[in-house]
Amino acid sequence: MLGEVRPSGGRRSWWLREALAAEAAASPHLAAAAPPLRGSTTADVVIAAGGYTGLWTALRLTELEPGARVVVLEQDVCGGGPSGRNGGFVTNWWDEFPTLLDRYGVDGAIAVGDAMEAAVDDVGAFCTAHGVDAWFTNAGSLSASAAPAQDGGWLPAVEALRAHGLGDRLVPLTADEVRARVDSPVFREGAFMPGAATVQPAALARGLRRVLLERGVTIHEGTAAAEIDGQRPGWLGRLGASMRRAPRRRGSAGGPRPVRVRTNSPAGDGEVLAGSAVLALNAWAAAWPWFGPRLVTWSSYIVLTEPIPDRLAEIGWTGGEGVADARFTLHYLRTTPDGRIALGGGGGRAGFAGRIGPAFSDSVADARRAAAGLRRLFPLLRDVRIEDAWGGPIDISADHLPWFGSLPGRPIHHGHGYSGNGVGPAVVGGRILAARAVERADDPALALAIADGRPPRAFPPEPARYVGARLIREAAVRRETMEEREEDPGLVLREVSRLPRRLGYHLGPE
Ligand SMILES: Cc1cc2nc3c(=O)[nH]c(=O)nc-3n(C[C@H](O)[C@H](O)[C@H](O)COP(=O)(O)OP(=O)(O)OC[C@H]3O[C@@H](n4cnc5c(N)ncnc54)[C@H](O)[C@@H]3O)c2cc1C
Repeated sequence: MLGEVRPSGGRRSWWLREALAAEAAASPHLAAAAPPLRGSTTADVVIAAGGYTGLWTALRLTELEPGARVVVLEQDVCGGGPSGRNGGFVTNWWDEFPTLLDRYGVDGAIAVGDAMEAAVDDVGAFCTAHGVDAWFTNAGSLSASAAPAQDGGWLPAVEALRAHGLGDRLVPLTADEVRARVDSPVFREGAFMPGAATVQPAALARGLRRVLLERGVTIHEGTAAAEIDGQRPGWLGRLGASMRRAPRRRGSAGGPRPVRVRTNSPAGDGEVLAGSAVLALNAWAAAWPWFGPRLVTWSSYIVLTEPIPDRLAEIGWTGGEGVADARFTLHYLRTTPDGRIALGGGGGRAGFAGRIGPAFSDSVADARRAAAGLRRLFPLLRDVRIEDAWGGPIDISADHLPWFGSLPGRPIHHGHGYSGNGVGPAVVGGRILAARAVERADDPALALAIADGRPPRAFPPEPARYVGARLIREAAVRRETMEEREEDPGLVLREVSRLPRRLGYHLGPE
């Protein structure tokens, strides 16, 4: 069956197809409710773009400033990017606690962890309050070792949490306890994070879109922000930016100069003039001159099985918990209400200079690698048909955490760098960005250490970044695959895969 795995390429993910079909059946008028921008318009806040970060920001703005004119620009449809393609794990950051301690100190780390935990509940509360059927399932998340080399990967987080009286946030499990939840023959000991959930990711994105439209937010889908404040994405944009200076005009009332966003869409070129802008571009931010040095784009692929509820019952996986192994090139898997398994990860690749090309959605090899992960974890399911596969880009930062900041001297605010863990954190990101956009200095979200705007360290320049990422990725995949076979990967593979850690990045295997 492996030979049949084909990623969907330009086609939408299964999640988004399912969500759009449900939306069309329930509210057919919604499809046309976010037409491309035609001509010029103005806004108090313009948001690029329509993934979770942009949509939660817009939602928060409707609470902070109910009368504000908010315009969202999305080049595709809302949820067309990773927000409608991800694994649907809504996790908190307790498993990142050592990194949080390192970066924010004890009080800062606990406050950030608490905020991320509350964000999981906020997703559920939003769905309940607005009748969004995004399959919110609050059943926790299981990390399981799938090879001796993966044993105890969670222990630094468990120990750090225990030392601060937070031991119940991430609970170690014996091999028997792990296999009582999900009976994979390769699973060994593990850890359970009770405060995590799963969702149908695209249904959540489309639900946010619906509520925003109901609240009077203007959304233009099929509309790309082509130039922001005089800057353009890509190499040419960078070159042009160095030759072009943004005009130093002031606003018409003598106030600060508005942000000008030039757009293009099937309706033609357009423009938004706004008091402030929020850039929620995720991996696409890497192509913009401001952010490129601090982001690496990385692909991730998901495969989805046919419905197999009886087979799930055979392996005891009926509790709805998310599951991940403990590789760096992680496999993450979850079930759906109709009894499918969606499994992602197992490798991925870097993009050159922030580009997001066909390798991010069309790679048969990467989709097959994800499928091979499924067969390894569940040999009993070898005959199960893979019904769909798709990929998407991830925005990797040097410390594996997002950062939320503002451009110096300009009312342009940005949030990205989720490093593949943004479903829950984007709720918090939206609060931070909304508060920045309307200058609510007293908003509790701005007191979080993660809102300090401090950027992560930069990656090496291209082409060293791309070549280095490829080498390290190959070494990590080969090392972890050999370790799964209980073979010794040898010193060279081990040391090359550890290079990012040795160089001080919070990335890659130990
Ligand atoms: C395969 C995969 C699996 C994942 N699994 C998980 C998971 O299980 N749990 C988890 O927490 N995270 C996961 N993630 C990461 C998660 O999806 C992201 O962190 C999250 O969706 C980020 O939301 P966002 O709004 O910042 O970005 P996005 O959803 O990427 O939204 C950015 C949007 O910007 C638009 N855009 C780009 N450039 C422009 C422009 N110039 N003008 C207008 N629009 C533009 C894009 O079309 C896109 O819709 C996964 C990611 C992938 C790819």
